[in-house]
Amino acid sequence: MTESYDVVVIGGGPGGYVAAIRAAQLGMKVACVEKRGSLGGTCLNIGCIPSKALLQSSEKFTEAGHALAAHGVKIEGLGLDLKTMMARKDKVVTENTRGVEYLFKKNKVAWVKGAARLEGARLVAVGADTLSTKAVVIATGSEIVALPSIEIDEKRIVSSTGALALSEVPKRFVVIGGGYIGLEMGSVWRRLGAEVTVVEFLDRITPGMDADIAKNLQRILQKQGFTFKLGTKVVGAKMGNDGVALALEPAKGGAREELAADVVLVSVGRRPYTDGLGLEAAGVELDEKKRIKVDAQFQTNVAGIYAIGDVIAGPMLAHKAEDEGSAVAEIIAGQKPHIDYDAIPAVIYTQPEVASVGKSEEDLTAAGIAYAVGKFPFTANGRARANGDTEGFVKILADSKTDRVLGAHIIGADAGTMIAELALAMEFGASSEDIARTCHAHPTLPEAVKEAALAVAKRAVHI
Ligand SMILES: Cc1cc2nc3c(=O)[nH]c(=O)nc-3n(C[C@H](O)[C@H](O)[C@H](O)COP(=O)(O)OP(=O)(O)OC[C@H]3O[C@@H](n4cnc5c(N)ncnc54)[C@H](O)[C@@H]3O)c2cc1C
Repeated sequence: MTESYDVVVIGGGPGGYVAAIRAAQLGMKVACVEKRGSLGGTCLNIGCIPSKALLQSSEKFTEAGHALAAHGVKIEGLGLDLKTMMARKDKVVTENTRGVEYLFKKNKVAWVKGAARLEGARLVAVGADTLSTKAVVIATGSEIVALPSIEIDEKRIVSSTGALALSEVPKRFVVIGGGYIGLEMGSVWRRLGAEVTVVEFLDRITPGMDADIAKNLQRILQKQGFTFKLGTKVVGAKMGNDGVALALEPAKGGAREELAADVVLVSVGRRPYTDGLGLEAAGVELDEKKRIKVDAQFQTNVAGIYAIGDVIAGPMLAHKAEDEGSAVAEIIAGQKPHIDYDAIPAVIYTQPEVASVGKSEEDLTAAGIAYAVGKFPFTANGRARANGDTEGFVKILADSKTDRVLGAHIIGADAGTMIAELALAMEFGASSEDIARTCHAHPTLPEAVKEAALAVAKRAVHI
């Protein structure tokens, strides 16, 4: 059977489903092909949403166990019901994925179930059916990177997917890779009682993030009970009756040591996923990192085939994929949208959260750009003290000559929410003075953003 569309989107993740909905809003006849049993992609099914559900539940457990007593709230007989916690997470996932199904129905996007294969620029095969289309948007996302010597069985040696579904709290949980996914999953299991060790090849965690913030995050996580083995590589894993024995070596070479674990999480990154798409036959070019090569309009080298999200270059983040989804639909409709890649926020949902947008101090130094720093600690913010959340600070980096905000970094409770103000400021080309002169409600945590902006010109008031 052949059905004709204006746009066929391959992949129903945040990139693909947003592209499909936006294209339908713009009056196009749209199909979205998704091979998973539910819509929402990695993000809704095995990524952002289930991880945040478990982070929320485990944080409540920690609060009940350790933090509420200081507020005069007494809890006796505290217990963990992991089954209920996991069932809640699954329910949250289902509600979200069904939400996308509803949006497809509302916008008359056809969900074609199955794996798509390109049969040229205008034809997409799904099983025995063929979809003919004027434009194809590839949004097939990413998959985990495995380590050559370590086989993932999703029980003892797990990917993030297995780490989201453990049936009991491991005594010793080892995370390979000190990026955001490893630290978030490590936080979940640490809060529920596991001893957590993070093994990282580099001599720092969260590569790419402002080093000042990364150093503080590591210190805070250590206080929470994390152990870090930096500058260390995992060279092998042996499965035994008593768990997994990991062989470690210093990254620069040296004596081997053993680290015992009950569960090992491999989280060393993600790579673009294009298996079975038929890219070669269609003549679609990849770059050196096997990402689909696109121009500024998300157009591949084959006319009519576009690509967005994790499968192309740029940060592998759901909101980046979503914005590209909207933009590509508008481009196909003849509009001229623009994404400012310097104003894409990134958040780590540890406690406290870490959020950043724009350049780090290291980026600016490397580019030879003169900048001024404004920093304000949450210990000096009234609301943070009232809440009992005084850890961390806001840091704003502004151009020394023009005062334009070039980067902002927050470590602190609710940093992920607060970074939105700074992303908006950067989108509008704001100066630190613009933020400093914006009235911020009192008493709120974002007053620390205003004070950090004031601190750029060395005139913070509350410190
Ligand atoms: C544990 C974890 C936590 C994360 N947390 C966050 C977070 O807090 N914030 C954030 O911004 N990002 C987070 N991410 C990253 C985020 O999930 C991705 O950046 C985002 O999902 C990318 O969206 P996408 O649409 O490009 O691809 P995906 O969400 O990966 O969707 C691609 C879809 O395409 C389908 N597909 C692939 N090939 C075919 C084919 N041939 N035919 C049909 N369908 C196909 C796949 O089944 C998949 O559903 C997290 C990721 C993980 C793993």
